Amino acid sequence: MEKTLIILKPSTIQRALIGQVIDRFQKKGLTVAGCKMMQLDEQILREHYAHLVDRPFFPSLLRSMQATPVIVMALAGKDVVAVVRAMTGATNSRAAAPGTIRGDFGMSGQENIIHASDSVENAEIELRRFFKPEEIFDYEPLTISAIYSPDELASA
Ligand code: UDP
Ligand code: MG
Repeated sequence: MEKTLIILKPSTIQRALIGQVIDRFQKKGLTVAGCKMMQLDEQILREHYAHLVDRPFFPSLLRSMQATPVIVMALAGKDVVAVVRAMTGATNSRAAAPGTIRGDFGMSGQENIIHASDSVENAEIELRRFFKPEEIFDYEPLTISAIYSPDELASA
């Protein structure tokens, strides 16, 4: 099954929204393949947000992402990268559509609840960045045949 990385950001930890955010992914039918809490340092954030290091808001983003430990998760499912990005919503929470996680839980462009990988290629890179191979698990939940058709499972 395809996998993606999500990070529950420090503002989500502070606001005690962990359960509600994870609940959405579980209700959708995605499988938690990895999960841990970690304190991010500047080095990993410079790598993870390399496309943003020259932007004026980068120092603020660095502080924000280090304010508390975060929860990193590997989620598994068919087309999971695209499904999770769609559930996440636009970067600016104020512009994010109602029904998306950012649209329903946030008011900020920076404090926007979660990170989600934006392509299959980046998901693989990001999962390697935050997890050791043995921290990601390939198991099939008992509900799998109620979540997908046999055809969908065969091609996943
Ligand atoms: N960000 C910000 N100000 C901006 C754009 C982005 O603070 O103007 C932060 C925000 O927390 C965002 C993160 O930088 O989630 C990564 O930005 P990206 O453009 O990759 O957005 P995402 O993929 O998270 O939607
Ligand atoms: Mg991004």
